[in-house]
Amino acid sequence: MSDAPAPLPPVVEFRGVSKVFNPGTPRAFQALEGLSAVVEDVPGMGEFVTILGPSGCGKSTALNLIAGFQEVHPPSAGQVLVRGEVVRGPGKDRAMIFQKYSSFPQMTVLQNVRIGLDFNAGESGLSAPRRTDMAREWLDKVGLRAHADKYPHQLSGGQQQRVAIARTLVLKPRIILMDEPFSALDEPTRMEMQQLITALWAEVEATVVMVTHSIAEAVYLGDRIWIFSRAPGRIAKSFDRIPKTPSGADPKAILKSAGFRDLVEEITTAFDAIQEGR
Ligand code: ADP
Repeated sequence: MSDAPAPLPPVVEFRGVSKVFNPGTPRAFQALEGLSAVVEDVPGMGEFVTILGPSGCGKSTALNLIAGFQEVHPPSAGQVLVRGEVVRGPGKDRAMIFQKYSSFPQMTVLQNVRIGLDFNAGESGLSAPRRTDMAREWLDKVGLRAHADKYPHQLSGGQQQRVAIARTLVLKPRIILMDEPFSALDEPTRMEMQQLITALWAEVEATVVMVTHSIAEAVYLGDRIWIFSRAPGRIAKSFDRIPKTPSGADPKAILKSAGFRDLVEEITTAFDAIQEGR
């Protein structure tokens, strides 16, 4: 008998997933059809998967099915599995970062980052001072140390998204879902956020699935890129070996490199062909 450990189930798996909204009504709309994909569990490191695709092709729907959000759950056909278990609803192992940051306006930045730890305190056994320390550590990591006692409305959009990132990462979710997290930000801020994400990445060891409409962002952040077909969405093309961006690398410098530009061009060509239904 072999002593080799049993292979770990994939972190995320779509098995022939279809989603029809408002089925059986005149407003019925098929957002996904026969979506199959696997994100393997690589011990000690998470994969960063980015999803590109034409508008309305079911990218957010796929993400929301991983999250188990009630607006989309369950799929109309097929299964979504997280670490080998069929998704039955939201869970602490998964966290979503949205485009529009929704904070608790009456709470300070520090309290906003600490709130998830507070909710879980009974289970985690973390003391109140420890929870505050952890929240402060994460505020440091996202560069908001000086803003701990401010309220969300006193922060810029980029700073608010940093709070969202700190609030999510302090909980160490196994899977982080991001739905166009930086698309509301201006270009310099967006680049700062991308740089921050690569810098924090090594530390969190989570698997990320991120929807973006920016091909450059997908190449800069992703280890793997899925391009969805027009609705009903499925993976029309997958790029599985995107070179890893060094931790904290300046996006402006990377953007100028020949290798990066070639890859963006190759993916743009594939994207355009899919968009035009070729
Ligand atoms: P994408 O993220 O690729 O732009 P979405 O997944 O948000 O696309 O949406 C795919 C299609 O499904 C869109 O046409 C959208 O209007 C529709 N859709 C999304 N969510 C719902 C819902 N809860 N009810 C009805 N239709 C929906």
